[in-house]
Amino acid sequence: MAQIIDGKACAAEMRAQLSLQIAERSRQGFRPPGLVTILVGEDPASRIYVGRKQRESREIGMLSESVTLPADVTMDRLLGIVRDYNARPDIDGVLVQMPLPKGLDSDAVLAAVDPAKDVDGLHPASQGALFTGRPGLRPCTPNGCIYLLDRTGVDPKGKIAVVVGRSVLVGKPVAMMLLERHATVVLCHSRTADLAAEVRRADIVVAAVGVAEMIKGEWIKPGAVVLDVGINRVADGRIVGDVEFEAASQRAGFVTPVPGGVGQMTVAMLLRNTYDACVARQAGAGPSAAKGPA
Ligand code: NAP
Repeated sequence: MAQIIDGKACAAEMRAQLSLQIAERSRQGFRPPGLVTILVGEDPASRIYVGRKQRESREIGMLSESVTLPADVTMDRLLGIVRDYNARPDIDGVLVQMPLPKGLDSDAVLAAVDPAKDVDGLHPASQGALFTGRPGLRPCTPNGCIYLLDRTGVDPKGKIAVVVGRSVLVGKPVAMMLLERHATVVLCHSRTADLAAEVRRADIVVAAVGVAEMIKGEWIKPGAVVLDVGINRVADGRIVGDVEFEAASQRAGFVTPVPGGVGQMTVAMLLRNTYDACVARQAGAGPSAAKGPA
């Protein structure tokens, strides 16, 4: 029977640790990290995500600002707001909630964020840093997967890691991060000829597809680590992952539940990125110089 990887507990631990670090830096005279979330339109899920980011950042002592814009906002105005926050010395993280309403150019908006404040890790410079093995802000959900993998104590070095899904948001970056840690990575997608065969040989499975329980429990290699990124609402209203949880639990060594697994880590990693961006921006400056406007 698999050990359940408790993403909720790991995220709470990370928030507690960040809260202590922020308090300690405050005692040293540094201003708190600042995060702005920019929400465009009325998408209910995006509203919930943004609300959580604001609440959790505030709870750990960060400066938290939010901007809400109508769905028909112009690109000029949106880009202008991003640039204003890029220029604000007391803001370390600029997050534009995706997806944007139709008619707005997401790529242009992501590219307008100052890479030093790209706490979502989606700017081309951040992605380029990941793909070329340079330091940089990493995207939150893949980073959360790697954090949870580390918590199992399983070293990916030399292991076969099968990632299902090749999105820019999850699949590709998590594959790069596993490669960075010396796993042998297989990146699967909708045209993969025999998905079951690929998953069957995986020591580590990352499922990021968005199809309820499509990865069958019987495909899981005994003892494997299973990280389920999928969030799918099924007919009876429940939220399930991309992996058949009960059946996979009978075979895996470790498995993340949905909800309560990887999803919990995404906001925690955003907070950590904001903290790291703040420390990096303040590095080299003395405490008084690093103090932003009140
Ligand atoms: P996405 O952009 O829709 O990408 C889905 C990927 O799955 C694509 O690469 C697609 O292949 C692949 N795929 C689709 N059907 C497949 C099949 N039958 N066999 C193999 N591969 C298949 O989705 P995403 O943004 O990566 O998100 C994936 C899931 O993670 C969703 O449920 C989403 O809600 C969830 N998610 C969770 C978090 C979190 O915080 N926990 C964050 C982001 C996303 P092709 O490229 O060939 O089309």
